[in-house]
Amino acid sequence: MTNSNEQFLERLKALRSDYVGQFPARIKAIVQNWNGYEKADDPAQVLQLLLRQAHSLKGSGATYGFSSVSETAAQLYTLLGKVQEQDKTPDDQQRSQIAALLKSLQDSKLSADDNFTTPANDLDDSDTATIPDNMNLIIAMQSEHEAAEIVEQLQHYGYDITLLTTADNLGAEITRINPFAIIIDISLHTHNQSFRKQGQNTTIPTIFLSEQDDIETRLQEVRAGGTGFFKKPVYTPDLIDALDRITQEQHEEPNRILIVEDTKSMALFFEATLQSAGMTTCIVNDPMQVMDVLPDFNPELILLDMYMPGCSGPELAAVIRQYESYDSIPIVYLSSELDTSKQLDAMRHGGDDFLTKPIEPEHLIKSVETRTKRYRNLRAQMVRDSLTGLYNHTKTKELLEQDLYRCSRNDTHLVFAMLDIDKFKSVNDTYGHPVGDKVIKSLARILKQRLRKSDTIGRYGGEEFAIVMYETDINNAKKVINEIRENFSLLKHNAEDTEFYVTFSCGLAAYPYFDTSAELNEAADKALYQAKESGRNRLAVADPNDF
Ligand code: GH3
Ligand code: MG
Ligand code: MG
Ligand code: MG
Repeated sequence: MTNSNEQFLERLKALRSDYVGQFPARIKAIVQNWNGYEKADDPAQVLQLLLRQAHSLKGSGATYGFSSVSETAAQLYTLLGKVQEQDKTPDDQQRSQIAALLKSLQDSKLSADDNFTTPANDLDDSDTATIPDNMNLIIAMQSEHEAAEIVEQLQHYGYDITLLTTADNLGAEITRINPFAIIIDISLHTHNQSFRKQGQNTTIPTIFLSEQDDIETRLQEVRAGGTGFFKKPVYTPDLIDALDRITQEQHEEPNRILIVEDTKSMALFFEATLQSAGMTTCIVNDPMQVMDVLPDFNPELILLDMYMPGCSGPELAAVIRQYESYDSIPIVYLSSELDTSKQLDAMRHGGDDFLTKPIEPEHLIKSVETRTKRYRNLRAQMVRDSLTGLYNHTKTKELLEQDLYRCSRNDTHLVFAMLDIDKFKSVNDTYGHPVGDKVIKSLARILKQRLRKSDTIGRYGGEEFAIVMYETDINNAKKVINEIRENFSLLKHNAEDTEFYVTFSCGLAAYPYFDTSAELNEAADKALYQAKESGRNRLAVADPNDF
């Protein structure tokens, strides 16, 4: 079991023990409400509260593995519901039935040590892979000569490569280097086993290279938990695409999930479950406070309870949907409501899914992940360029404006850069548009890998890119872009049987010398023009005196 899984179980145990500790007080509150119900100023309101308490007990009891509590609470809920419907005070039979159920709840001796067969034991460890913060890559290839070509090309993309020509030290090297991925000749891979980090249960993504492409070889790859397979000779750009996909998945930001649930013990359970899968969560116990939390937390999915004081789940969903910025955010109801007509009714108000309590952690995680992923993709389509995955023109400008505002508030600086590929028309004319597209992608990839996370990278137009380097001064910006420029110029591009090289030019403009988005754009554009005029494959800095 991985550490995170153990931690999750520990957390669940602690939550469960809290639940047990609070249980008597909880039952006492229900009993008191019931005893005061008929003499209350507003009996209907007290009955409503009782219904909610019973409902909540039904869900939480089941969640923490106390099924008899949950069943008793369910009966109580049904009886109270009948009382509500009949519109008159409960009769003697109802009174004694309810009293018996309450007595049985009061007599329940919950123990945190009871066997708790949480489905969490089955949590798939591969879901909770640790995120690598490195570009370390192991290449194990028998032929040093074959490897040299691949190593050379990959290095331009910033990978730190360790080359091995035998599998003798592979295990030790994995421990030492902690690679984010492994590329290996299938001939060096003798056991049908996947590579794991020492003491961890997560597999290291592995790409296999082979002379053969037959079913046996593919099977060997699958059994070894391979992430990719390439027949030799390998076309390096394809290899890089495969590595890209691996890093992309590993570098994804954690999902942000908002939990709206009035029962604290339930909310904490969902939180522990989702956090165990690496997600970021925020709990709101009072539905009326949701609108205060939304803009800052900016969730990618809302888990919504059905029955809460002040406002029901479906009502809240309808309110959230009224705001344009949240009209497509996934809303998933989590409730012990089993009545399908009520579920459907809740969905009509803007929910996307209905999950019932108790829910197995694994099921909750999977449902939330799937929906969040889809939402992310949808949003990405609106702000990202489809060829490169970089921000599109509009979004880049918007982010520049935001950074400028941050700059003025924090009294710091920023550099705006505009890049344009040199003589790109001739690349298209000579090798065709699809090859041109690959060149654009390769520059995008280098930019993504070489720049900081806090930098904004956008595809500004066809073969033009814009970069916003927040809190960076002009000298550092020059250094970084020059490095990227040199690396890019060394990158070998392939077209059918030929190889060719491409360069770019860049214009830079710095805030606060230019202090609006329009000024920075104009200045960087002029500098770019200068760089082109004076020979291309170089950068130029906008001089404020020229403006
Ligand atoms: P310069 O060094 O002065 O920048 O020369 P250039 O040839 O790069 O400049 P020009 O603006 O004349 O040509 C840019 C070319 O980029 C023309 C256009 O067909 C091509 N282009 C624009 N968008 C794309 C794209 O998405 N894919 C491909 N393959 N080509 C594109
Ligand atoms: Mg509730
Ligand atoms: Mg251009
Ligand atoms: Mg150009």
